[in-house]
Amino acid sequence: MGNGIIIYIEHLRGIVSDISFEILGAARKIADDAKMTLYAVVAGKKVDALLPGLGKADKVITIEDDSLEMPTPRAIADILNAVGSAKGISLYMIGGTNISSGIGVILSVKQKIPLINLCKNIRYDDGAIIATNQLFGGKILSEVKIEDSKGIFCINPGSFKSEPGKSGTFPQTETFEFKSKESKLKFIKIIEPDLSDVDISKEEILVSVGRGIGSQDNISLAEDLVAVLGGAVSASRPVIDQGWLPLNRQVGKSGMIVKPKLYLALGISGAPEHVEGMKDSSLIVAINKDPAAPIFNFAHYGLCAEIEDIVPVLTDCIRNKKG
Ligand SMILES: Cc1cc2nc3c(=O)[nH]c(=O)nc-3n(C[C@H](O)[C@H](O)[C@H](O)COP(=O)(O)OP(=O)(O)OC[C@H]3O[C@@H](n4cnc5c(N)ncnc54)[C@H](O)[C@@H]3O)c2cc1C
Repeated sequence: MGNGIIIYIEHLRGIVSDISFEILGAARKIADDAKMTLYAVVAGKKVDALLPGLGKADKVITIEDDSLEMPTPRAIADILNAVGSAKGISLYMIGGTNISSGIGVILSVKQKIPLINLCKNIRYDDGAIIATNQLFGGKILSEVKIEDSKGIFCINPGSFKSEPGKSGTFPQTETFEFKSKESKLKFIKIIEPDLSDVDISKEEILVSVGRGIGSQDNISLAEDLVAVLGGAVSASRPVIDQGWLPLNRQVGKSGMIVKPKLYLALGISGAPEHVEGMKDSSLIVAINKDPAAPIFNFAHYGLCAEIEDIVPVLTDCIRNKKG
């Protein structure tokens, strides 16, 4: 095994992201089992404010530069490459998040080491690092074994608990001198979701529409149901891509993770990227005209029917029952 692991500490608006603690906890275990040193890299503007709580790392390497307030993936890849070369380490763990996902590919090319993407688990076992990662949108899980401690592991958020990575102690630190190169890619601004609209991650009831809803006009069927049932209307990606509902209503891998008490899926097939965002709902009810639709494998209750036939009847029943 090599002599260390380098992890990247992701942060936004002066707060260390949860994924960083998830990775810190998982990497700490590997470092202990393999008797390696765990380095955490923090790059940004005012990095000192980010350090408390990172004590699970053996050493935190800090790079302070105004240009790193919202760094590009290339800038972070350059930094991780330089730190790895200086320490003689080629084993990295980074977050599979919107912020960090571009880093791995660039670093992989620079270091000429493999990138193992979409990891759900990672451990040290008998002289090797073994990761479980997703292929084909999560339909297949593969085990990847790295015996020469050279690789970049991109960890899916939510794969580990964040608590084991948290610590009340201040870490040992080391300043690393690094001047970012002029980049053609510039960060301009964060585009915030429309806060005047509902936050579907906080709703207890979601009536979610998929491509099976057929048209923008038919979304009123779901809105009528919400009017009597409560909650909000959410959607699968094709509905959002059509522009029938705003982006902040999307459930799934590239949308919101939701866990309502009731998730009513109307005309949603149950693709892995959608299920990833709603599978932990307390009660899942699916209405789909195709008896073989995969959503029925996840639903607690399923109804094989046409949306247009069943939803108005359901709305009337609930309205009458509520008096
Ligand atoms: C990187 C990546 C990220 C992605 N992220 C997301 C994401 O965040 N969220 C997401 O949802 N998808 C995401 N997708 C897309 C995903 O793979 C699926 O394409 C999508 O979820 C399918 O949406 P759907 O179920 O509405 O449509 P379809 O798969 O087309 O299913 C429509 C369903 O409606 C049923 N139906 C049709 N007409 C009726 C009717 N009249 N009555 C009843 N049922 C009917 C059909 O039987 C079918 O099962 C992503 C894909 C990729 C590659």
